[in-house]
Amino acid sequence: MRSLVGLVLSGVLLVAGCSSPAPVPSGVARVSSGASPASSSAAREPVAVVLDPGHNGGNARRPDVINAPVPAGRGRTKPCNTTGTATDRGYAEHAFNWDVAQRVGSLLTARGVRVIYTRPDDSGVGPCVDERAAVGNRAGAAAVVSIHADGSTVAGARGFHVAYSSPPLNEAQGGPSVALAEAVRAGLSSGGFPVSNYLGAEGLAPRDDLAGLNLSERPAVLVECGNMRNPAEAAVLSSVDGRQRYAAGIAAGVVSFLRQHGGF
Ligand SMILES: [Zn+2]
Repeated sequence: MRSLVGLVLSGVLLVAGCSSPAPVPSGVARVSSGASPASSSAAREPVAVVLDPGHNGGNARRPDVINAPVPAGRGRTKPCNTTGTATDRGYAEHAFNWDVAQRVGSLLTARGVRVIYTRPDDSGVGPCVDERAAVGNRAGAAAVVSIHADGSTVAGARGFHVAYSSPPLNEAQGGPSVALAEAVRAGLSSGGFPVSNYLGAEGLAPRDDLAGLNLSERPAVLVECGNMRNPAEAAVLSSVDGRQRYAAGIAAGVVSFLRQHGGF
């Protein structure tokens, strides 16, 4: 399993590495990317990445909790959380998000990344969107990736898009978050996934209404991996192989971003 995973990730990285130019904005992770001498006594902190699997399996049973308004940035409020969508056959988005996040986490951990999740399982309630953003901020995460799948009923709607906060509310939301979005887009494209044909442009979506992105003080994106209401795409989203491929694409994008911005 480990060697297969490594093989898949390496294959994606080879391709992603060729297509991701590297503007280096200031104010991101400041860990040196230079080689460290083996004799150095200063052990380097492993770079931290926060993975945020959207929604949660217990949300539906606690509307009183998840409908409570919380700060959403830009002076607005939003419900604490939502239940998420599902395929027509009943595969729930929260389960997809959880599974893909675990797979991304395994791939990143194998590369020496310290992975932090915003929820410990897929059976609880919440946390609220503002708390999810706070997890990344507290950790000083080099990158924050929220993982979702969409539920559009627009005929023929399919493909992934990567959202980032725009207009940016702090330095991390400017160049760094856009660079992270571009890197994750490159990773998913290299994995053979089509960009959205119904939202955003060329797989990227600047948004001012997503609380987790608005409240982030770290480079942050939200990935909508595909449209669960599109039967063809739902089949991919529902399959173990498909979820592993999504995870490999996302992980490749994160690693590419960390390399460009000094995380490795
Ligand atoms: Zn969602």
